[in-house]
Amino acid sequence: MKIYEKAPAKINLMLDVLHKREDGFHEVEMVMTMVDLADRLEMEELPRDTIIISSQAGYIPLDEKNLAFQAAKLIKERYDVRKGVYIHLDKHIPVAAGLAGGSSDAAAALRGLNRLWQLNIPQEELLKLGAELGSDVPFCVTGGTAIASGRGEQLERIINPPQCWVILAKPPINVSTADVYGNFKVDRIGKHPSLVNMVQAIEQQSFADICAHLGNVLEDVTLPMHPEVLQLKEAMIRLGADGVLMSGSGPTVFGLVSKESKVARIYNGLRGFCKEVYAVRMLT
Ligand code: ATP
Repeated sequence: MKIYEKAPAKINLMLDVLHKREDGFHEVEMVMTMVDLADRLEMEELPRDTIIISSQAGYIPLDEKNLAFQAAKLIKERYDVRKGVYIHLDKHIPVAAGLAGGSSDAAAALRGLNRLWQLNIPQEELLKLGAELGSDVPFCVTGGTAIASGRGEQLERIINPPQCWVILAKPPINVSTADVYGNFKVDRIGKHPSLVNMVQAIEQQSFADICAHLGNVLEDVTLPMHPEVLQLKEAMIRLGADGVLMSGSGPTVFGLVSKESKVARIYNGLRGFCKEVYAVRMLT
């Protein structure tokens, strides 16, 4: 039997870092939501007790460093599954882009293997397994829109923001999340975005207020390191996006656009100097 799972990318509508914890992680406050740019996982049981990963993307690890491999290994160990699986990752989400592609693949593998092996693992348990794999994985297990706190694994579901277009543009640089947090100094933050204001804007379904309260403190680290990110933000605003922000630790920049009539102009304008541009819907 073959099964398929969609693994959508996430964006951060707001991201704040409160302090560095004793365990080395940063205490964060984020609002995350999903966009319709997704990897697709194909999973098939193997007669041999082994995990095999393949992908058409030549630039990701296919061994135990792959987060989908780690998800399969974890589920096999915890639930004593003595069966093998072949997972093909049809990658569409740019890698190391601030869009949680690897985390979403891991979450999709957890959901998919739960079905493939008929384990009936409750969602609560999948969330805990996800947290062992990475801070963003629990959110990717549930999807939707949520406030994420702790190191990102504590979730509080909120209603989805109003429908809009999301233009994503990734400059041709890779940014390591670990490096960005490594260079982050809480006392050097210019301005903290407001979680309360963002949640209120979403609950009131006010697209204008959502755009007004977009904020990500990690821009303070990534923008000075990579001027191309600021240039992309400026270009998106110039071309008419309603609200613009860097996602996660970057370097992907997203622009929110309410009017469909503006999407083609912004997309084509950006394609003039950035190869990786996507125009997708927010997943609501
Ligand atoms: P985040 O926003 O959660 O920090 P990201 O979008 O910046 O994530 P990913 O695309 O998840 O970054 O990739 C980060 C690293 O993880 C890459 O360097 C890649 O080698 C590794 N990786 C492991 N598994 C995967 C996977 N299934 N897909 C993509 N990258 C993976």
